[in-house]
Amino acid sequence: MAEKLHNHSRLCIHTMTTKPWSLQEAIDGYVRAEVPNITVWRNHIEDYGAKKAGKMLRDSGLRVTSLCRGGFFPATGAAAREAARDDNRRAIDEAVAIGAPLVVLVCGAVPGMELAVARQQIIDGIEAVVSHAQDAKVKLSIEPLHPMYADDRSAVNSLEQANNMVMALNSPWVGITVDVYHCWWDPMLKAELQRAGRTIFSFHVCDWRTPTRDLLTDRAMMGEGCIDIPRIRGWVEQTGFKGPIEVEIFSNDLWEWDQKKLVERVKRAYLTSV
Ligand code: ZN
Repeated sequence: MAEKLHNHSRLCIHTMTTKPWSLQEAIDGYVRAEVPNITVWRNHIEDYGAKKAGKMLRDSGLRVTSLCRGGFFPATGAAAREAARDDNRRAIDEAVAIGAPLVVLVCGAVPGMELAVARQQIIDGIEAVVSHAQDAKVKLSIEPLHPMYADDRSAVNSLEQANNMVMALNSPWVGITVDVYHCWWDPMLKAELQRAGRTIFSFHVCDWRTPTRDLLTDRAMMGEGCIDIPRIRGWVEQTGFKGPIEVEIFSNDLWEWDQKKLVERVKRAYLTSV
């Protein structure tokens, strides 16, 4: 079990958690609530462009934990795969512009494509862009997704697979993102976290709602589902990880809330249930 969290110094909120807010509203809302860290989703910088978004973020004093998300490497046909790699190079450039040290990779999958083929295309895709990441001093982080997304979002569905990819790629610029939502069920979780060790680049939290009514947008506030988050955080921190704890909740219910009240609710749940 992890040591209790007594303050919000490591709290980070994803802009998708407060999806109805524009980037400017999210920045203002997090600063007002004294949330020190922010992870920015690419769709939230579209309205401004990365350069302007970077200035807004620097002016705010918020620390940027990561840019979400790159990835989606597998595709049918070489031209489409090259386009995906170019998009990842752009994501890396955007990360530089907004001061994000990390791009999180939702690695991708294509319905009907053999998963083993998709996984090889993911490895090849990351390999093709890693020198760009290294030159930009931006880390790339493979986030394994829950197996329910294996059809079209990610062919990387366990920490074991992500660890194997990190080993195969063998670059200090490539590591993993642990999201309790995606890996809480995994009987190999503790062992694979230990194996990941210092290659754990980032850590996402939310909770698993029962019953889950939507595969994508029905995640729960921490403490309101069945995931033992403190236990998993304890395992993550045993590896030496002391980075931001990122609250990433896609929830139709919570997006209906007054987002200012939602941020306060996140802050309370962070202290009681993470
Ligand atoms: Zn995540």
